[in-house]
Amino acid sequence: MQEITTLLRQEPLTENALLRLLEIRDEKDLELLFDTADRLTRRIFGRGVYLRGIIEISNICRRNCDYCGIRAATSGLIRYRMQPEAILQTVKTIRKAGIRTVVLQSGEDPWYTPELIENLIRAIKTKHRMAITLSLGEYPFAVYRRWREAGADRYLLKFESSDRDLYQKLHPDCDFDERWRCLRDIRRAGYQLGSGFMTGLPGQSTEMLVRDLLALAKLEPDMAGIGPFIPHPDTPLCNAAAGNPLQTLKVLALARLILKNTHLPTTTALETLEHDSRIRGLHAGANVIMPNFTPENFKRLYTIYPHKAGSDSSAESAMKTIKAQIRAAGKYIRKGYGHSLKEPAAKS
Ligand code: SAH
Repeated sequence: MQEITTLLRQEPLTENALLRLLEIRDEKDLELLFDTADRLTRRIFGRGVYLRGIIEISNICRRNCDYCGIRAATSGLIRYRMQPEAILQTVKTIRKAGIRTVVLQSGEDPWYTPELIENLIRAIKTKHRMAITLSLGEYPFAVYRRWREAGADRYLLKFESSDRDLYQKLHPDCDFDERWRCLRDIRRAGYQLGSGFMTGLPGQSTEMLVRDLLALAKLEPDMAGIGPFIPHPDTPLCNAAAGNPLQTLKVLALARLILKNTHLPTTTALETLEHDSRIRGLHAGANVIMPNFTPENFKRLYTIYPHKAGSDSSAESAMKTIKAQIRAAGKYIRKGYGHSLKEPAAKS
């Protein structure tokens, strides 16, 4: 206990300290770690939790990431893409639920041309005045800049693993340097940057997880998503073990201690592995939840991993669960855009 208290006071946390903290097993020590992260979260954000409504606009993808259930090679999956009109309709539903951020996520689907997305961004801004997060994958700088100029506020692109070899192994048709080129370009284009990684990937050591945390510290993103890997039966990693919820919570708590005022969601993947772990996430450093508003007939098909929490219920009933979980954590829904605290000039 004494040793953990001393470790937690280190500023900044060294690689060795992080490794030691990630290996905590003792109940009292765990409580101390989560409490320290939660206290810091409350000091920065109070007890408020920001909601971001996510729409999974297409499950069509040209990539073949080994872990992902909507990879191009997955056959037997019904593919869909939402038309701009249907997306706008869903944005309206999110706005009506009192949420001020919409996240547009999809596989890398070239049907959505830069121009189409630009028009969609402009329409969302004019009609609904929402903050917009894009999570559409890898594009050239000119495209990122074009969408930023059209009004998109934030871009979410996880680096997935900061280990070059592991990244290359899991992403046979992607390039590690290209991923980081994108992250730099997203920032250069003026977005609030979201990134992050997965825990429990096959072949990932604890040392690699520590380096993922240090990579985040260096990147200083405005938002960071950290979720456990979940094996999908129709992928090359079908037989791999899933990530561990407790380990994910530890990584989340350490991310809070390192990143300070970065927005940290408690992820749907974590909730999928263990029901109500959202409550634990809110006690371990998270201050954001991303409720899923993808229309029901499509939501079932956005199977990046199986049995995604909330994918078999309506957005309203999923929202009910989330509201109850926020209450159970002793927190409340914070109104407003929830822009980055790192960017005081943020506008929407
Ligand atoms: N094409 C976009 C969106 C990817 S899906 C992009 O490249 O950014 C969003 C996130 O889901 C990914 O970044 C990844 O971290 C996560 N994900 C995908 N498959 C997963 C799996 N099997 N288990 C856990 N998380 C997964």
